[in-house]
Amino acid sequence: MYNNRQSIIQNTMTVDVEDYYQVSAFSKNIAISDWGNMESRVVRNTERILQIFDDYAIKATFFVLGWVARQEPGLVRNIANEGHEVASHGYSHQLIYTQTPELFREETIRSKQLLEDITGNVVNGYRAASYSITKKSLWALDILAEAGFKYDSSIFPVRHDNYGIPGSATEAYVVETKKGHKIIEYPLSTYKFLGQILPVAGGGYFRLYPYWLSRYFYKNINKTSKPFVFYIHPWEIDPAQPRIKASWFSEFRHYNNLVKCENRFTQLLGEFSFSTMEDILKIQGLIS
Ligand SMILES: [Zn+2]
Repeated sequence: MYNNRQSIIQNTMTVDVEDYYQVSAFSKNIAISDWGNMESRVVRNTERILQIFDDYAIKATFFVLGWVARQEPGLVRNIANEGHEVASHGYSHQLIYTQTPELFREETIRSKQLLEDITGNVVNGYRAASYSITKKSLWALDILAEAGFKYDSSIFPVRHDNYGIPGSATEAYVVETKKGHKIIEYPLSTYKFLGQILPVAGGGYFRLYPYWLSRYFYKNINKTSKPFVFYIHPWEIDPAQPRIKASWFSEFRHYNNLVKCENRFTQLLGEFSFSTMEDILKIQGLIS
């Protein structure tokens, strides 16, 4: 019933576990000190994603925000118990290039330790809030390597107002950091279309493009024997979430096509094969 997968290439499925009010688009409208007063929807939405993955027999990497893990340790345990990879989405969802290295180090170590205490497993992967490892914050890779992360998945090789390193590599690679550490970078997927480098890795882009266009991008990436990286947030399958007033553009980015997202997502899961980021990096021989 579910398996209509023509591709044998295993792609990378990732979930950035955060609630609807923690996104960067609303950071000017909702302070961290208000997070505890908001209606929480992250457990129910993440459990729904876990159910969908179970239906489609898919294992994924969940980059969990430390703030959420502290509030909902049972959710993190459920993710791990179902055989998914638990990785770190930092602690407070602040953009890295707005933090000092000292603060970033403290938050990063704290969030890794918290997830490891909850699951009993080592956390190997990291993804920055809003892909905020850019040329201004490459120092973060040193701190990640020193904290014991094996890989990072935060660099988007696109031009964007808040993130991106245009022209950087589009497949997983070994980074030699300034201090001489080594860490794997697994960038977010892009596709060259009509002369433009388009971000195609999921999230708002998956909601923006019609499904047939996303499928066209993914099929063409897989045709060249390459996997793509896909990401989704739990709030993206929750059209009934409370509305937050923000700028027109921030509201568009957050609310566009929420109502279509879950159906598109299950269609995607039926048509392509996926695994965790750790597993894909092992297949590629980049981590052991
Ligand atoms: Zn995030």
